[in-house]
Amino acid sequence: MPILTKSKYIKGLQCQRLLWFADRKRLPEPDLMQQHRFSQGPIFEKYAKQLFTGIELGDLDFNQNIEKTKELINENKTIFEAGFKIEDLFVRSDIFEPNGDGWNLYEIKASSDEKKLPIYYDDLAFQKYVIEKCGLKVKKCFVLKLNKEYVKNGEIEPEKLVEKHDVTENVELIEGIDENAEKYLETIKSEDEPPITISVNCNKPYECALKQHCWGTLPENNVLHLTNWRQYWKLFNEGIVDIKDIPKDVELKPKDEVIRKAVAGCQVVVAKEEIKHFLKTLKYPLYHFDFETFDTAVPLYDNSRPYQKIPFQYSLHIQQKDSSLEHFEYLASGDEDPRIKLLEQLKDEIKGKGSVVVFNKSFEKSVLTKLAEDFPEHKDWIEVVLSRLVDLAVPFQAFHYYCPTQKGSYSIKKVLPAITGKDYSNLEINNGGDASIGYFNNFIKEKTGDNKFRQDLLNYCGLDTEAMVWIVDELNKLINLN
Ligand code: SF4
Repeated sequence: MPILTKSKYIKGLQCQRLLWFADRKRLPEPDLMQQHRFSQGPIFEKYAKQLFTGIELGDLDFNQNIEKTKELINENKTIFEAGFKIEDLFVRSDIFEPNGDGWNLYEIKASSDEKKLPIYYDDLAFQKYVIEKCGLKVKKCFVLKLNKEYVKNGEIEPEKLVEKHDVTENVELIEGIDENAEKYLETIKSEDEPPITISVNCNKPYECALKQHCWGTLPENNVLHLTNWRQYWKLFNEGIVDIKDIPKDVELKPKDEVIRKAVAGCQVVVAKEEIKHFLKTLKYPLYHFDFETFDTAVPLYDNSRPYQKIPFQYSLHIQQKDSSLEHFEYLASGDEDPRIKLLEQLKDEIKGKGSVVVFNKSFEKSVLTKLAEDFPEHKDWIEVVLSRLVDLAVPFQAFHYYCPTQKGSYSIKKVLPAITGKDYSNLEINNGGDASIGYFNNFIKEKTGDNKFRQDLLNYCGLDTEAMVWIVDELNKLINLN
């Protein structure tokens, strides 16, 4: 008999096709980054549960868990992973705590982002609905999340790490669970795969696991590549899917006009004057710089916070005006907090004058700012580096250069092949997520990192800054044309 669980209910809210594939265990394997995110939940849960005196039922099998829950409810005990089943509905609650003539329900989320709280209301509302159908009264609903201001100093202090939010009123406002549950059970039972219904829900509340598959059915140059999301959803919902089908009298935002022009003419669109202006802001020698970082829900090191980006590697290409290049790099060993040695080495290598060129400044800026805060002895020179940052993504973000192969993106992974014809495909590690989680898993968690893996990491990060050198060279060539 099909069972609607909490996680399936939430998938149904996002999209019934997603629910149908999830129920048949036909979703693609999560990538390394997603696996890492999922792995953080149980680590945080362990600390959140330390704030309660409860009995853990998470290790019991399905039936034992439900029976034991009934037993402990009769004894008025706090339960971890309490299981409730009624008809074809089933939920397991992180913490279930007696409160007078009723119960408190706690959902533990390894998230530090307060803006995400509303995502969890539906989750709690479904649990409350099932539990109350079982004849129990849920008086209060809480989310236990990470306190993003918590700074580790010695042993983890659960009472400071965990932040409690009373969301009872928000949860009580949620309606329609009955109808939804009925609809989703029908979907699960159906032999027919629900149709693709592309909408904002493909990214909300999470990027759907089937997105690549569903969105892969769209035309090569579709309106979802435009930058103005209000306008592209409006066009899409009106049935205008291919960029070439946008009526001429529909006015687009300037960046989207660039995309339309590039697609219509199958050509690269370049705003030479704007690029020239950008290149003039570069002061030689250029210090092309890139960090790799990892993060964890529960901080590993003193002077760090939940999900703080911890830099473990950098690459630095120093390019002189005459195009000569020097390369420097750092990669931690995994034994200790990587930030201290990294800072000492970086201080020796970024010296003198010249622009510090990064691609997508907000990331490097936020990592450097936190380093200055956490290691005040390095604050002065870090502030000088911050004042010298120049963002190479700017001309691409402004669409002063655009090639249709970028598909609306200005990430370095799209810009590099568009402008130079080179890419990351020959590398063992070819994206930041794999580098970050690869380092964390191999060098910190399992301690199995070998020289080959170190070299793969060095190759990847090195290419990120070499790519910046090539991009600047290509931009210079472009403005010198004609
Ligand atoms: S990608 Fe969109 S249409 Fe496809 S299953 Fe996910 S939410 Fe549904």
